[in-house]
Amino acid sequence: MQRLQAYRFELQPNGKQQRQMRRFAGSCRFVYNKALALQQERHKAGEKNLGYAALCKALTEWKAQPQTLWLSETPSQTLQQALKNLERAYKNFFEKRADFPRFKKKGMGDSFRYPQGVKLDQGNSRVFLPKLGWLRYRNSRGVLGEVKNATVSHSCGKWFVSIQTEREVDQPLPQGEAVGIDMGIARFATLSDGSYLDPLNSFKKHQQRLARYQRAMSRKVKFSNNWKKAKTNVQRIHTRIANARKDFLHKASCQISQNHAMIAIEDLRIRNMSKSARGNSEQHGKMVKQKSGLNRSILDQGWFEFRRQLEYKSAWNGGFVVAVPPQYTSQTCPCCGHVSKDNRQTQARFECVDCGFEENADLVGAINILARGHRVLACGETVQSGRSVKQEPAEATQAIAA
Ligand SMILES: [Zn+2]
Repeated sequence: MQRLQAYRFELQPNGKQQRQMRRFAGSCRFVYNKALALQQERHKAGEKNLGYAALCKALTEWKAQPQTLWLSETPSQTLQQALKNLERAYKNFFEKRADFPRFKKKGMGDSFRYPQGVKLDQGNSRVFLPKLGWLRYRNSRGVLGEVKNATVSHSCGKWFVSIQTEREVDQPLPQGEAVGIDMGIARFATLSDGSYLDPLNSFKKHQQRLARYQRAMSRKVKFSNNWKKAKTNVQRIHTRIANARKDFLHKASCQISQNHAMIAIEDLRIRNMSKSARGNSEQHGKMVKQKSGLNRSILDQGWFEFRRQLEYKSAWNGGFVVAVPPQYTSQTCPCCGHVSKDNRQTQARFECVDCGFEENADLVGAINILARGHRVLACGETVQSGRSVKQEPAEATQAIAA
């Protein structure tokens, strides 16, 4: 089977390369925003959205215009990739996976992508990127496979390259048995075999310090030197939180996917759950405070990212993930099948009002999820989320808008 894998390294560019990379990222942002504005204009005029090919044609015209002549200093292929990104953003919006595409701001996810032309010289810890030449990078691990494309990104004052490779690997034999996982707040994940993972509240731990730095930043004069210093502190904490979380999720998903042939999880619509609890102007939200607390916990623990990792890592290990409908998994008795709210007297304890079966509530959830996973398979039902599984580490850094 074909295995795609991404490797992320910190780049060590020289001054000229840094200036060029800033320009490339800026040009890509410009093209993205200009194309988005064009699409919005057309929409207002009642015209159809332009496809990728038509946008590329528009790009060629922009490059020939005297006021945007500087666009031709950036590799065409990276500019075209910016248009590809916009196309994907629209697609995600139409398929209800994301909000409407927004204009990009400087300093928020500055990046550009090379679809080809990337060369890797691991022996000398350097990578060749078109129009930038050879760049040194912090060679922290070996890269396997054929280099397909590379994305360069800027975060917290550093430049990173994410190199995606492809290689042929033997179809691995699945290891272990089937398992159900219940995701929770008190326990991050409870497995149907009785084991569980504690939550990582990295965000909570750092929250107070983050709030202090944010307050300090708000007191400074915007764009002053002290403001910039305060902003760096805020960004550093965000990065630290993101890294701790990434590390935790990777370890957890590795361990579970390596030891289980089938993993059943709840098909939680995390995007809906983490939507603003505040409601909108017409409809005031209910339980705003409770919900925002829960939402923060969910996001804090990265359930969505965890599931994504489980999906691709299981595939790497020959196993698979099955998502099951989440209704009543916490209220159904695994012993007699009785479904009742009363089975859950407290958040932590399950006690069946019919047969008296008693167990930890999260474990009951996991057992029910596993049973449901078997049923979904047996009936040939598919509960697919419809997302394609991206086999690469998502950029876990948060940038703050200036
Ligand atoms: Zn029962």
